[in-house]
Formats: sequence, C-alpha cells, structure tokens
Amino acid sequence: MRSTSNSTQAPLESIAAGDRVFASARELVAVEDLRFPLLVNSPTWERVVACAEALRAAPHLARLPMFLLTRPEGDEPGAVAALFDGVALAEADRNARSDQILAEAGRFAQRATAPGEALAQYLACRPQARLRPIRDWRAPGYYRYPVVEALLGTLEDPFVWLGRWAQRHVLDVDVVVDRLRLCETCSSAHLSYVDVCPTCENLDIVNVRLLHCFTCGHVGPYDTFQSQQRLRCPKCETVLRHIGVDYDRPIEQQQCRHCKHLFVDASTRSTCMACEASNSPERLPVRAVAVYRLGGAGLLLARQGNLSPVLSGLDTVNYIAPALFERLLDWQFALARRYPESHFFSLVGLRVSNLAELVESLGRSATGALVDAFAERLRATLRTCDLTSRGDEHIWVLAPHTNAQSATLLIRRITALSEATRQSNQSLLKLASTTASIPDEIELPTEGNQLMGLLAARLGHDEPGHHRS
Ligand SMILES: [Zn+2]
Ligand SMILES: [Zn+2]
Ligand SMILES: [Zn+2]
Repeated sequence: MRSTSNSTQAPLESIAAGDRVFASARELVAVEDLRFPLLVNSPTWERVVACAEALRAAPHLARLPMFLLTRPEGDEPGAVAALFDGVALAEADRNARSDQILAEAGRFAQRATAPGEALAQYLACRPQARLRPIRDWRAPGYYRYPVVEALLGTLEDPFVWLGRWAQRHVLDVDVVVDRLRLCETCSSAHLSYVDVCPTCENLDIVNVRLLHCFTCGHVGPYDTFQSQQRLRCPKCETVLRHIGVDYDRPIEQQQCRHCKHLFVDASTRSTCMACEASNSPERLPVRAVAVYRLGGAGLLLARQGNLSPVLSGLDTVNYIAPALFERLLDWQFALARRYPESHFFSLVGLRVSNLAELVESLGRSATGALVDAFAERLRATLRTCDLTSRGDEHIWVLAPHTNAQSATLLIRRITALSEATRQSNQSLLKLASTTASIPDEIELPTEGNQLMGLLAARLGHDEPGHHRS
C-alpha cells in the first residue's frame, strides 16, 4: 500500500512489469526473466531519461516493450521518443504495440548478453523500427543514437560501432541524412571555418576596391588612384577618365592586412572548437550520418545469438589461443625464410558454411554435438605437431613440414570427416576450405595475420538474405 498521507508530494518513480512494481531501474535490471512490458512513471523528464537509459543499457531487456505512462511538466527531451516504444499512449494502443513486440520477441532462442545481440533483438522485435540519429547541437558529433548510446555506455564510440556492424550486415544503411566533416585529431564535428590569406594563412583579410590602369597595366587599391577629385594612376600618372576605355574594376578582390597580398579567392582553414586542431577542410575525415535498419546477419544474430560458442568443441584439438597461433605462424615464416631448403609448412583455413542453417533447424545443442563429433575425428586425423586455432567463424590448422601437395590431401581427409557427421535427417557440417603453402606459393603475404586475412577472405562469410520465415 502506498502512503497517501502527503498528497502534495511529487509522485514517486516506479516501473511496473506485469504485477510487479519496481522502485528503480537498477532493481528491475537485476531480475532475469521478465516477459512483460515495462511501464515507467517518473516525476521529471531528467529522471525519465536516466531511468530509460538504465533500462535500455541492459541487453536482456532489449526485447521488452517500454512505455512512459505520463508526461512530466516541461519540454520533452529529444531522446525520449527514441528510448520508449510510446509516450502517454491510450491503454488500448499501448497493449496493441506491446503485443506486437512480445510476439516477435518470442522467436528468439537466446537472451541477449552483449550490445550487438541486444541491438539486433531490439530491431528484430520492432520490424518497422529504424535507428534514427537525433540532432543535438551539444553532442560532439551533432547527432546521437540514444538506444545505441545506452547499450554501449562508455565502451565505444557509437558511430565507430555502428559502422562496424553495418559492415557485417547486422545493420543496413536505410538512408544517409547528413554528411559531416570531423576533426582529424578528436573526431568532434564542432568545427569553425574561416577564410584566410592564401599566402600567409593570416585571417586578417579585408575586401578592397581595386582599379586597373589600361595604360601601364597597374592594379592597386581605389584610394591610391584618387588625387584632387580625379583618378590618376599612381604608377604611370595617366589621368583615367572613362571606365572601359582608360581603366576597369577587376573582379572584387581581397587583401591580406598582414602580408599585403592581393587575391581573388581566399583559402579556408578549419579549427576544432574542442581541441583547437587546425586543418584545411579537404583533409578532414567525412562521416555519413545514416538511418539504420536491421540487416540479414542481424536477424540471425537476434534469433540465434553469437554462433561462435557452438564451435567451442573444436577448441580441444591441439588448440592454441589465436594470439599465440599468430605468433607461431610468424615463427614458421621466419624458419622458412632462414632455411628455405629444409623448412616448409602449410596453413589450412576451414569454415562451417552452413552453421546458421544448422542452428536454425537443429538448435544449438544438437549442432554443438555435430561439431563435437567432427572434432573427435579431426583429432584422430591430425598429427600431434599440427596445431589448430579458431576465430569467430574460421578454423585454422598449422601443419609444419607439409607442402602444397600434402596440404591438398589433408583438406581432402578433413572434408571427408565432415561427411561422417551426417545425421539420420541428412544434416551434416558443410566445410569450406582453403590452404596456403610456404614457400611453395611465393606470391603470398609474409606475415601470419595477413595470411590469415587472405585465407579468411577466400573462405567468405555468411550473407543471409532478408527473408523471414
Ligand atoms: Zn598606369
Ligand atoms: Zn597574407
Ligand atoms: Zn578536435
């Protein structure tokens, strides 16, 4: 029972979820498995925003609808509409909106635990929703994405992060709405542009009226031609009577008060208002500000979560952590350079090309079991001196003393193993494979991470379509 003894007191902050009422966002975020819309009430806009940001910061709440029940007094801050699924809606509208979001959210197998998954789920259960930049002159980048900022906290720059997820097709650019030049040093968009002298770059420049004497060709400021109510060329002393015949006025000109240079077009310099770095505008990095929607890879991420853990069964086969693996690869390169006659090796890259489909049709644990079965056979196939490592989607085998011919045989044996994972329902791990042999192939890069990058590009990555089942 809430106390009503003091009716003039401002209403308390509360967040209702189902039949539970929480006094703070922090209390609610700690609850694991909520499946109700979140209904926020708060006495001031400032606290509304703080509360909404705290709730949106929790990855596992991304799939829950969130509404502000009533508007506090004063002007609504720009971020509010972006953070909530509705503000002061009638109950019927709120319920309809909420049912849509929860119905979509019901398709997700996983609770999001990281910002990327959370953002994918946020957009996937709001099919019409877009990540729209809101204009804010106080923000260093002039635009803000409130939901992304809340999820990331201080982890990373939202613009850099959005660019990376767009590259991976978790997000697609819907439309570009602005293009900003940024400070090269601190990435602030708060730049001031000023015309300066093209010779000495001083900004103390003035417009001057000039005359051009046709007799001697002299060009100079108008007032130097004035003498006793007449125009007389200060150089050849001819009296100038008729414009177009004796003289003319060159295109409007400017003069530097510092070095006296006369010029038509001034140069432009930019100065960052945040860090004072100065630059010429054409050298400034440009940022496109975009509206984003969910991409094909984002839909998979929303439904299935990060698939990397499904492959963890492979981390038992002569497994070396990626950073060390790269160092060992560099070491192999060094040996092959030093002893070209006797030292050679191959790097084999593998990728399970149907991993997303398998998880979709079999689920995570059955797919994990397939991977485990494959790993078991792989262990029996590799020599003890062969080492493996794994990125998010690629599997690497470093095979010392293995030339191109033996590497091809090794790949054939490994792909045959995947055939042995075939299940009664015909599903099996499909492997994409590629190999590089040093020094047999002389055109290859000579550093571990570059070689892995090249092979990863050859192996490709998932490019799922936009279809929804
Ligand atoms: Zn003259
Ligand atoms: Zn100058
Ligand atoms: Zn700066």
